Amino acid sequence: MTSRKIDFANLKHQYKLYKTEIDEAVHKVLDNANYIMGNEVKELEENLQIFTGAKHVITCSSGTDALLLAMMALDIKPDDEIITTPFTFISTAETIAFLGAKPVFVDIDEQTYNIDASKIEEQITKKTKAIMPVSLYGQPANMDVIQAIADKYNLKVIVDGAQSFGSTFNGKRDSNLGDISTTSFFPAKPLGCFGDGGAVFTNDDTLAQKIKSLRVHGQSKRYYHQYIGMGGRMDTIQCAIVDVKLKYYEKDLARRKEVAEKYTEALKGKDLILPFVDERATSAFAQYSVRVQNRDNVQSKLKKQGIPTAVHYPMPLHLQECFAYLGYKNGDFLVSELISNEIMSLPMNPYLSDDEIEFIVKHI
Ligand SMILES: *Cc1c(COP(=O)(O)O)cnc(C)c1O
Repeated sequence: MTSRKIDFANLKHQYKLYKTEIDEAVHKVLDNANYIMGNEVKELEENLQIFTGAKHVITCSSGTDALLLAMMALDIKPDDEIITTPFTFISTAETIAFLGAKPVFVDIDEQTYNIDASKIEEQITKKTKAIMPVSLYGQPANMDVIQAIADKYNLKVIVDGAQSFGSTFNGKRDSNLGDISTTSFFPAKPLGCFGDGGAVFTNDDTLAQKIKSLRVHGQSKRYYHQYIGMGGRMDTIQCAIVDVKLKYYEKDLARRKEVAEKYTEALKGKDLILPFVDERATSAFAQYSVRVQNRDNVQSKLKKQGIPTAVHYPMPLHLQECFAYLGYKNGDFLVSELISNEIMSLPMNPYLSDDEIEFIVKHI
């Protein structure tokens, strides 16, 4: 048997592929020494605007800080409640709690693994200020229903799009969904930089102005501060890197979709539950995640063949120690609990060859 080593996200290959252009872009920043808020920041923001169609793009220090900036711009305060999903990366609810507000969890849909929009309304109270859906694994949540509920109860919608940059819902890029949408340029995300980075998107002029100010310590002009803000800028070097990669991103997205289709075609008929994409949506396929019964077993077998897998995520947020104070318990969100026990992500990146896909599938 041939032995091989498959790379989960294959970031090394990505750098090799664009090395000349990336090196040149980085060196240009070094030569100019404009490390903070250099020209490349503005250039990336303009190109992201063109790509997404969002009116305003504000790059920032991470996907986590993007969520903080979004909520600070919306004046989220202690004791406010924000409705979100327990089946996500910690940042989603962590940032809500960090601002002193209360994450209120709603279970997920068993097909998309996104927040179950039909269960949101029953959790709305006088304290509810916003709904924060997450576009898990790259696919937007049921935004038709979520937006309708938000409109009915006068709530804000913040979309955690850390995994879904470039996806669409009803033909619209995900960066235009909700009042504010965010993303992350963490290296392993579909569009990543070579460190930490993120962005906030909005079509609202007033919010955009405020987010820009909050990103630089709430200043109105240098050393004059209108708001309590944060040091939330994205490095010029990181912006230069994303700007190079953005040029090839449409192609990357297309290949991710193709890889997903090849997986799905080849895995049909096996004892697995495969990803489901809503007909109104396209996914950025940050992950290709399947449900398996005997996950530990399957994972260790694949590992022996040099095939890495990952679990996003093994424990839903309502059961995390840091959220014990919220008073949730095992059994509160049965779908999230079930999926977290069965979900397993296969290697996913645009550089995965057909040959590698075949090899992976053969060993499942
Ligand atoms: C990665 C991720 C974040 C955080 O992004 P960082 O850039 O790592 O801070 C937030 N939400 C979700 C759903 C994520 O997957």
